[in-house]
Amino acid sequence: EAKGAGRDGVVLFNEEVSHRVELHLQIERLLHFALENQEIRLCYQPIVDENKLIVGAECLVRWYSGRLGEIAPMQFIPIAEQTGLIIRLGEHILVTAFSTLRDWHERGMELQQFSINVSVRQLLHHDFVNHVQVLVEHYLSPGLAGKVVFEITETVIAADVHSVVTAMNELQRLGIRFSMDDFGTGYSSLSYLKQLPVEELKIDRGFAHNVCKDEESQALISAILHIANTLGLTVVAEGIEKEEDFVFLRDLGCRCFQGYHFSPPLEGDDYIRLLTHCSAGEPVNHP
Ligand code: C2E
Ligand code: MG
Ligand code: MG
Ligand code: MG
Repeated sequence: EAKGAGRDGVVLFNEEVSHRVELHLQIERLLHFALENQEIRLCYQPIVDENKLIVGAECLVRWYSGRLGEIAPMQFIPIAEQTGLIIRLGEHILVTAFSTLRDWHERGMELQQFSINVSVRQLLHHDFVNHVQVLVEHYLSPGLAGKVVFEITETVIAADVHSVVTAMNELQRLGIRFSMDDFGTGYSSLSYLKQLPVEELKIDRGFAHNVCKDEESQALISAILHIANTLGLTVVAEGIEKEEDFVFLRDLGCRCFQGYHFSPPLEGDDYIRLLTHCSAGEPVNHP
């Protein structure tokens, strides 16, 4: 019996692996198609201040595949990175994001920041800085370029730091600012944090979730806020789902927040509607 179970176990394992490999290949193939057929879009999640007023947006990519249905970024971004498709995908995301920012500006909607996730492979691509420069000149006035924040993750630290810093400095000259995303989950090397021209830390949602009941997360977030203060960095707490976590973090000194408690990521039109509704000083409160 034990032998039989083992055999089944092996079969199951192989099936699972081959299923995953197949899905990987399928996503890779379909991603090419998706880029040519407008299946890739952006959603915008509000970033709010301690009074729940909207101060910015984070662009989050969405893929509604005609063949596979909705595919989460965590599923296809890593594949896009491995295959190099992230370069084309990233260009598409930048063009979409910049034209949205310009469109909103032309409609009179002002934000303090407009955040775009940028993967390390994209950041280090030899043409990236030039490409961003062309797009900035085409889509954005100098004032608008100053609203753009590129969110990078701590995996940049595993890359060649000299190249990373060079690229970041050149982008900074275009007006672009930087945020360290998912802070606290990766390498978190403080000496590198000092070397990189980063102005904001985004505390990973793993820490914010249920923080008011979790002493370990409280201690970690206090430490992060302390580091941020010392280095003069802004802090955004991500993944806020409950009022009590928001209140707790606000009282701890956090000034910017993002999460389903305020608003989920929204289609552009819905974002505009929310922003218009809130521009009269109305706080955001998601039911
Ligand atoms: P991230 O940059 O840390 O984005 C935050 C993620 O948390 C988003 O997931 C967002 O929908 C989700 N989120 C927001 N509020 C809450 C909340 O209250 N609770 C929970 N549980 N989750 C919340 P999403 O959109 O699935 O994106 C996942 C990751 O994929 C992103 O993490 C980012 O690393 C990557 N990603 C998304 N869009 C892009 C993009 O345009 N370019 C690149 N390179 N990566 C992207
Ligand atoms: Mg992000
Ligand atoms: Mg994050
Ligand atoms: Mg992330």
